[in-house]
Amino acid sequence: MTTAARSFDLNPMIDAVNPGPLYRSAIEEVAESIAPVIEANKKYQDARVFERLLIPDRVIRFRVEWVNDQGGVEVNFGWRVEHTNVLGPYKGGLRFHPSVTEDTLQFLAYEQCFKNALTGQPIGGGKGGSNFDPKGKSDNEVMRFCQAFMRELYRHIGPSVDVPAGDIGVGGREIGFLYGQYMKITKQRDGVLTGKPMGLGGLLGRTEATGYGTVTFAEAMLKHNGQSLDGKRVMISGSGNVALYAAELAIQKGAKVVTMSDSGGSISFDKGMSSEQLKELTELKEVQRGRLKDFGGDGITYHPEARPWSLVDADVALPCATQHEVEKDDAAALVDRGVKCVAEGANMPCTHEARSVFHENGVVFGPGKAANAGGVATSCFEMSQNASHDAWTKERSLDKLHGVMLDIHEQCVEHAPIVNGVVDYGAGADRGGFVKLADAIIAMGV
Ligand code: NDP
Repeated sequence: MTTAARSFDLNPMIDAVNPGPLYRSAIEEVAESIAPVIEANKKYQDARVFERLLIPDRVIRFRVEWVNDQGGVEVNFGWRVEHTNVLGPYKGGLRFHPSVTEDTLQFLAYEQCFKNALTGQPIGGGKGGSNFDPKGKSDNEVMRFCQAFMRELYRHIGPSVDVPAGDIGVGGREIGFLYGQYMKITKQRDGVLTGKPMGLGGLLGRTEATGYGTVTFAEAMLKHNGQSLDGKRVMISGSGNVALYAAELAIQKGAKVVTMSDSGGSISFDKGMSSEQLKELTELKEVQRGRLKDFGGDGITYHPEARPWSLVDADVALPCATQHEVEKDDAAALVDRGVKCVAEGANMPCTHEARSVFHENGVVFGPGKAANAGGVATSCFEMSQNASHDAWTKERSLDKLHGVMLDIHEQCVEHAPIVNGVVDYGAGADRGGFVKLADAIIAMGV
């Protein structure tokens, strides 16, 4: 970290919180970006806003017990990290994945605060989830788990208090089961979760929002450099919600999608994925919940156990699977393969070292807290729709999403330093989000 060289040092404040490795890495990244802003603003130092943002308002941890199809009792952890509500109700997804720990959720909740601030919507930051693994579970098992999870979570959420959404392992099916249980327990149909199925008050366009937003952000970065997406070769990782809809909009914009992946491996497309192939892949992943190894077709090659980054030449990379899926060597491989622009659809898929490789090589890098903010912004539209008992059209949602993404891009450019002749969007996003949070914290008093 470079902060130690300044007139004040953020490191002891970070050490005092004793963060886990993921949370530490997120904080250090932000600290490095915002140190000059804090140094230049005595009011932020006096109000100790950096430290006040390090400790979540509260972390709720609970036991989730449920019965599997064989009649056996299963036990999982459940968490909700309510990080800050200074800008609005706590807002952030629920992640169900065996790798989830409190550290994962603290890092995600912290990132979410900055992201939500950048959207310009009235939402605070939070995150939650469980170490439950939905993979290989029957629909009934997933339903019983979701109902058991909500048996505790309902006490802590509310449309003006805390509004969870989906994330890895939590899509429309899980949100439907969670919201159904919430309605049964509380009698309320108040839209307390977002990403709901349409019949339960969902918003047209929410499913597409994160992937579409990431592509819109990447396009804005290219445009800022006088380029467009048309004809560009785009590597995408993941084949979940974010990845599939990023691929959809990229193809619509004339780009060639040359890779997709899941946790078992990657597929590459010799000529770029066709719209027909994308439709089949979406059916395989969203309906049949199948694996990429079972997806074949004209010009498609499966690469078991491989990440996409060294497989083919490309101009743009959109990591849309999970955190730390682009490490230093992967970043070097991307540079070798010709990539000039990276936009994170996932949350922190690129490690600190990978980001350094991009900076050193003049690759334009859009961090997740800016590039994937379209999902949470659109969740906020869903909250508005539910609160006003309205029904938005898809066109209205996607138009507004487009405007929000361009506005986030502008905020990043406004706050970003130029490094090696390239806009440092990472620092721009951290600084833009921090200033909004810090000013609101000061306004709130102690
Ligand atoms: P999904 O669960 O729909 O898809 C996740 C994808 O990533 C799957 O293809 C999954 O493969 C793959 N994946 C998960 N873990 C790993 C791993 N350890 N190694 C390799 N591949 C992995 O999740 P989403 O698409 O919703 O989310 C993807 C990312 O985007 C996450 O970081 C999430 O936090 C972030 N995000 C999502 C938003 C949303 O609106 N959905 C909003 C903002 C950010 P497999 O099927 O094999 O597990």
